[in-house]
Amino acid sequence: MFCSVSEKRYEGIYEMLKDLPTMNDTAIQFSLEFFPPKTEAGKEKLQATEKTLFDALQPAYASVTFGAGGSTQKGTRETVLDIHKQGVDAAPHLSCVGATRDSIAEILGGYQQAGIRRIVALRGDMPSGMGDSGDFRYANELVEFIRQQTGDHFHIEVAAYPEFHPQAPDAFTDLKNFKRKVEAGANSAITQYFYNIDAYLRFNEECAMMGLDLPIVPGIMPITNYTNLSRFSEMCGAEIPRWIRERLIAFRDDTDSLKSFGLEVTTRLCQDLLSAGAPGLHFYTMNQSLPTLQIFNHLDLKAEE
Ligand code: FAD
Repeated sequence: MFCSVSEKRYEGIYEMLKDLPTMNDTAIQFSLEFFPPKTEAGKEKLQATEKTLFDALQPAYASVTFGAGGSTQKGTRETVLDIHKQGVDAAPHLSCVGATRDSIAEILGGYQQAGIRRIVALRGDMPSGMGDSGDFRYANELVEFIRQQTGDHFHIEVAAYPEFHPQAPDAFTDLKNFKRKVEAGANSAITQYFYNIDAYLRFNEECAMMGLDLPIVPGIMPITNYTNLSRFSEMCGAEIPRWIRERLIAFRDDTDSLKSFGLEVTTRLCQDLLSAGAPGLHFYTMNQSLPTLQIFNHLDLKAEE
């Protein structure tokens, strides 16, 4: 039974839900996310991680994060070009907060020249203490600008929030704002991580009801450490369900048990997502190979063919 929704704009929701298309019936695609390393040791570790994961998953692409305000601009570019050289489609993240049109145009031109065909377009969050007097306010403006400047050159990914963006005034406004990015020219979306599959399924249903027909790929965060996960979830508005949180807390220093519980939870989430028709999985690797590899190896992919 669906819960009752009294919003006028949601009248007829239950009728419409019956006729929704399946999310996607094309082959499942896996993608990976890395951050640019800051040290030589970090670089070497990332190269080893890439090799392991590229061989095992044969990802559709690998994306590289971008520090808002341009703090990792050089590192992002170097990591992207290195991935591209290995024959894997590389997708730089690009955040627009605090940036000028000229600076974004220059970055786009550089990627175009280097043969990069994908981009993850974001607003980003301005680091505290830095002003935000840039030319862009929201990601939809960046997507529009990329299309104006480069036409159809880039496949544009945008961020989606099944549990809603923490700064959104309300859930429906956030959905409408997501729609702006799609209408501005996004091709597909990657979600913030979540552990509650219903949030993702509902988000997809509501996007379909708004006429949005794009792949929305779930972002998967492996669970390996409670303190970090808890801090990060607090910041980005991702919920750790109580039944998971309480167990993670109870493991205390028993990291082996915590990791094996985390693996079980995330593997089941991934399997359920694929069974429900998710078009792929995007792994937040945190530059480590093992957690992603373990989840991937535990998936029964034949079941989803
Ligand atoms: P937007 O889509 O612009 O949304 C931000 C907020 O503004 C939302 O509350 C939305 O409802 C509202 N809003 C949107 N458009 C409008 C509008 N036109 N008018 C009024 N309100 C509006 N951060 C980084 O710094 N670097 C990264 O590399 C990075 N990678 C990420 C990858 C993924 C897959 C995800 C999910 C997030 C990533 N982030 C990254 C975090 C992201 O930058 C933050 O979540 C940021 O707060 C929002 O970025 P956005 O592109 O979703 O913003």
